[in-house]
Amino acid sequence: MQQFFHFKEQYPGCLLFFRMGDFYEMFYEDAETAHRVLGLTLAQRSKGQPMAGVPFHAAETYLARLVKAGYRVAVCDQVEEASQSKGVVKRDVTRVITPGTLTDESLLTEEQVNHLAAVCFHSDTEASIAWAELSTGSLHIAILPISSLADELARVNPSELLYAETATGDTPDRIKALSNSLGCPTAPRPQYNFRHAEAIETIKRQYQVQTLEGFGLAPDNPALAPAAAIIHYLLETQRSESGRLSHLQPPRLFERKNHLVIDQTSLRSLEVEQTLRTGQTEGSLLSTLQNCVTAMGKRMLRHWLCYPLCEQAPIEQRQRVVEALVSDSRFLEQLRESLDNVHDVPRIIARLSVGRATPRDLVGLGRSAQAIREIEDLLADRPTVSDYHARAKDLLEVLTTLAEKINAACVETPPAHMREGGLIKDGYDAQLDEYRVLQRDSHAWLAQYQASLLEAHDIPNLKVGYNKVFGYYIELTAVNRDKAPDSWTRKQTLKNAERFITPELKEFEGKVLSADSHAISREQHLFETLCSRAAKQITQLQNFADLVAELDCLGCFAQQAIKHRFIKPTITQDPVLIVRAGRHPVLDQLLGDQFVPNDNDLGLTNLASNYKIDSESSPPALATLGLITGPNMAGKSTYIRQTALIALLAHTGSFVPAEHATVGIADRIFTRIGASDELHTGQSTFMVEMTETANICHHATPKSIVILDEIGRGTSTLDGLSLAWAIAEHIAQTKSRCLFATHYHELTTLADQYDNVTNLNVTVREWQDQIVFLHRIAPGSTNRSYGIHVAKIAGLPKSVLERANILLSQLAVSHEGPAALPTPPQNPTTPAAEPQPTSKPKSKQQPDSQDSQFSLFSEPTYIDHPALDQLKNLDILNLTPLAAFDLLRKLHEQS
Ligand code: ADP
Repeated sequence: MQQFFHFKEQYPGCLLFFRMGDFYEMFYEDAETAHRVLGLTLAQRSKGQPMAGVPFHAAETYLARLVKAGYRVAVCDQVEEASQSKGVVKRDVTRVITPGTLTDESLLTEEQVNHLAAVCFHSDTEASIAWAELSTGSLHIAILPISSLADELARVNPSELLYAETATGDTPDRIKALSNSLGCPTAPRPQYNFRHAEAIETIKRQYQVQTLEGFGLAPDNPALAPAAAIIHYLLETQRSESGRLSHLQPPRLFERKNHLVIDQTSLRSLEVEQTLRTGQTEGSLLSTLQNCVTAMGKRMLRHWLCYPLCEQAPIEQRQRVVEALVSDSRFLEQLRESLDNVHDVPRIIARLSVGRATPRDLVGLGRSAQAIREIEDLLADRPTVSDYHARAKDLLEVLTTLAEKINAACVETPPAHMREGGLIKDGYDAQLDEYRVLQRDSHAWLAQYQASLLEAHDIPNLKVGYNKVFGYYIELTAVNRDKAPDSWTRKQTLKNAERFITPELKEFEGKVLSADSHAISREQHLFETLCSRAAKQITQLQNFADLVAELDCLGCFAQQAIKHRFIKPTITQDPVLIVRAGRHPVLDQLLGDQFVPNDNDLGLTNLASNYKIDSESSPPALATLGLITGPNMAGKSTYIRQTALIALLAHTGSFVPAEHATVGIADRIFTRIGASDELHTGQSTFMVEMTETANICHHATPKSIVILDEIGRGTSTLDGLSLAWAIAEHIAQTKSRCLFATHYHELTTLADQYDNVTNLNVTVREWQDQIVFLHRIAPGSTNRSYGIHVAKIAGLPKSVLERANILLSQLAVSHEGPAALPTPPQNPTTPAAEPQPTSKPKSKQQPDSQDSQFSLFSEPTYIDHPALDQLKNLDILNLTPLAAFDLLRKLHEQS
């Protein structure tokens, strides 16, 4: 128990897995946690302390469950043979497993990105973050305004978040808030881990450099502090004896401006990584597109979708490769076959570096490195992939040599661990061969030895034998016992025979008996030598892994393009979004032929003439803001999401599900869809909706793409309508490309006031009192919401529906004016919801006419105030700034 308390104190915040014989035991509150989280039975020790244990061979599963539940576990092993120890057996913590520092294959799925992040606040407005993936060795840093911190961390999606501990030991509120929104555990770390001067030293020591400038990092970069905190934590949890982590790459500065920004809400609303409803990957954009053949490709695809590009040249570079692969399916197939031979190289290197590589890792690495030859060969002489070819060529020699070394030494199907050997091939190492000969061929050696003795001494009936008690011996029959040469030592006398031993036989005995353990330790030594040989090539192996991952993603894009009829979007600097027959990438695959494709024509009117779809077509009628009205279930959300997803995919270099697409580079994609999913955060739905909309209003630019669904729904009709109206006006003025789906039919009058606003609706047909959703987006607005029809489909009782119909007609009568609640159609059997195209060009009306159309509001009443008269009478054009200020002062005094 003294040992237990000692380690418990050394590893605060960790559960201690304390090895006792064949079990890992937990005591006191650890036992209670294990009971709660793992369902283990609580036992009592002699003095009544609670304890719980798991068998050592099943430890990994329990560890995985604890880590998944957000706990950190220190594994305390017996570090000497119990039989050799005097007193209490020596123990030590051999590894610390935390959610953010996993490397073991059993604890991670290959697609899972497992980031450890650290955050440091520098002022009320600025923070810096660092994030690393121990299992691949990547390390990034970023300096951010605090307002974007949650969004950026959400993209990083850390499994554990480190922060500087406070003097009181309390978790600061902003850390609590981050932990809540990210849903990840946090860990306080000593203040000095985050201190700038020490951070520089830690980083220099880790990378063994004199200056950080070689990494492109200024010494005053505040993000060095969280990076150093991460390095400290990794060294501590990995128990690195060298004081370094050889596979950890130097920190790379992440700059938001190099990527298309998609905030946390938009990533979630667009279901990029997981669906809103279930929170599962199944059904998300990522899982629908996921078709990579390598583990690192799978992880990189996630990265590409969450961090799309925002510069034309690199997007087009990716497109060119995808195009080359699409147009040559043999090339695509061969490339994917060669990539398929590459194992999870980054994770193998990580395990090599922390001393936890397995024989399978080594053989996998050899096989992977060997694949470079085929990849290089495939890429050769193809101008579109010349950059990739050059990268492959650079790696060719080093990796081929490494592969040859590993393949020459190791068998093809290696054992899972080195405990019993069996990794190294026969004929690779003379010493190991000798042990194995001894193990396998002791009989042959003995027969040969016996023959040589017979030949040398000519003693009849001489035999060489073995028994368990006395070991190896030469046996002479009693009659011949005196013929034994003096050099033989008498060992045992039997009734009819005498047994002897020779130095040679003694040596043989020693060798055979220890051959097993010698063979195993020799193999271990050879294994370690090969591992450290491979570890010398870490940089090349990391470059190789990056190359493979990129090619794999591009291959995945090409495969999708062929299979699901994606086309290459034209990328342009003009802020337009013109799509013909666009489809929702996920729903289209689910619905197949039933999916109804739709068009987009977003952009400034004056840009239209640049964008004819083909030589005969006329330029599209562009608008920056499309207001979409239409009943529930008609397909509004699908359409607006599909638009954002097509834009997003285009920015990753992927082809897109459409017949034609021209996508202008965007700086951000904002999406505000639905509200029900926010309930878990404990905030009011409406508050969340408004906070997010505020974010959009503040940050949307003419280069942004904005998708808004039912803004204002969360409050009373009048409030909601006014807000939706004002927000739509704001976005119209910002000139972002925006689709705004709304129930508020009143908003459609905006199209009369703004040149860049257009009305769209989703077509619906009525037929024999039924409604049929056509899912087709058409120009014009609709004032039917068909809520009662939808409720009928949903199975609301007939009596409720009848009552609702009566109420609807009464309410409709009591509201007069052009934009009042809908009046029933004249003839319900005709296609009443056919669009009512807005006439263009629009008449430019000024806000005073807006009020007359805004029929849900009563006439505005102006307050009578002398200040207003003064303002009205002002001659603004001839007013100097000083005079304006003077007037303002006077007005202020009067007020
Ligand atoms: P809304 O936002 O108007 O309430 P949704 O976009 O949620 O409607 O669509 C409702 C359902 O209609 C979807 O779940 C889907 O099954 C179907 N749908 C939507 N758009 C299409 C389309 N373009 N083609 C075929 N079915 C569609």
